[in-house]
Formats: sequence, C-alpha cells, structure tokens
Amino acid sequence: MINLSGVGKRYPTGVVALQDVSLRIERGEFVFLVGPTGSGKSTVLKLIQRIERPTAGRVEVDGLDLCSLPDSQVPLLRRGLGVVFQEFKLLSDRSVADNVAFALRVTETDPVEVAPRVQWALETVGMVHRADDLPARLSGGEQQRVCLARAIVARPRIVLADEPTGNLDPEAAWEIMQLLSAVNLRGTTVVMTTHNNTLVDVLRRRVVELHAGRVMRDESRGLYQTAR
Ligand code: ADP
Ligand code: MG
Repeated sequence: MINLSGVGKRYPTGVVALQDVSLRIERGEFVFLVGPTGSGKSTVLKLIQRIERPTAGRVEVDGLDLCSLPDSQVPLLRRGLGVVFQEFKLLSDRSVADNVAFALRVTETDPVEVAPRVQWALETVGMVHRADDLPARLSGGEQQRVCLARAIVARPRIVLADEPTGNLDPEAAWEIMQLLSAVNLRGTTVVMTTHNNTLVDVLRRRVVELHAGRVMRDESRGLYQTAR
C-alpha cells in the first residue's frame, strides 16, 4: 500500500512541485500517472523511494512512515521497490545477466540463489538468449526488457516505472506494457508515469492526472484525457 496524504513538495530552489496531493494506492493496483511535463509525476515516484522528502504531509509505503523512517531503514524500503526509468541506466561494461544480478547485491540473497533468480527474471522478460551480451548490443526495447528484469529480480511488492516507454518505438512500447501488465497480474503493484496516450486508452486502468502539482483527476478505468 502506498499512501500520500496532503503532500506538498517545494524544492530548495523554491519550485513547488506538489501541492496537497492525497493518493492511496492499494496492494496489487495498476496506476497510470499522467500529466504535462513538470506536473510533478517523477517527484511522486521519488517521494515513494525516499529519494526526496515531502515538505508537507505524509508518505507511507507498506506501513513505513517515510517521514520518520531513519536513513538506516531506507535500504529496507528500497528492497521492496523495483524501478524502471526512461533512459534504461544499464551498466555498459557488464553483461545483461550481471546487470540483473547486480540488483540482488543489496538484498542479502543467498549466493546459490542468484543465478536461478537472474534466469527467472530474464525468462520472464524473454531475454535469456541475450544473457551474455553487453547492453550496447541490444535494441532499445531489449534494453528496457533487461531493465524490467532488473526491477523484478528481487521480487519487489511495488514496481515504479518513470516513462518506461518514452524512448521506445510503438511495438517495443507495447511489449514493455504487456510485461508490466503481467507483472501486475502476479500481484505486484505498478505505478507508471507516461505520455503514451495509446497505451493508457487501450488498457483502461486507473488514471491519476496531475496538473501543476495537484491531482486533477483520479478515475478507476480512465482514458489518457478526459472526454470533454
Ligand atoms: P514531471 O515528472 O511531471 O515532468 P517533475 O516531478 O520532474 O515533473 O517536476 C515537477 C517540478 O519540479 C518541475 O517544475 C521541475 O522543474 C521541478 N523539479 C524537479 N526536480 C527538481 C529538483 N531536483 N530541484 C528543483 N526543482 C525540481
Ligand atoms: Mg518526469
């Protein structure tokens, strides 16, 4: 469960990124977070990871109050979160398998478990056959599938995806979308920011729309834009 109540975020520069945002996301939900550039979408995802702290209100993730959570407990929070970015962020000098295995280093996974877990994650995204390749040899869509494997390898309860299809062609975007849907169907909460109106309109999942740091729409089977 993710719960933001009355959340405000003012960056040290004075920019107000979020104002009075209240948003509750239950375990197993799939939520599209939409809105124009600068509306605060990425900031919401950063607050959930405790990369940023709110300047007003409360953020709770799986029973942890992120405002009072000591720094020493942040790794515990992050172990329950898998993250996918628009710009992939793979380590260029490591193989696909090593990139995925790297995500297990912080999790105290039994060393004998690492290889089977990596195999499982790569199977899930259909990338086992590229396990020994370097990321640069893969297409953008393939790199993003590896990123998704990296995000799920530690079996997080929540996956946060920040414009994961932003750099992909429509076909690759659709593949990533289907993989994220499959991850969600297995019970993982997924929060995905996007500008991809086609995906949002086909999937008809919950849509939360931000405008200038405020929630201006929250619909359970929404479209990218309100029909107005
Ligand atoms: P979105 O993801 O919807 O494009 P962001 O959450 O990235 O929006 O940004 C919301 C607002 O906060 C924007 O005005 C942006 O410039 C500002 N912002 C984001 N990150 C920072 C930061 N680290 N320092 C200062 N301002 C920031
Ligand atoms: Mg953003």
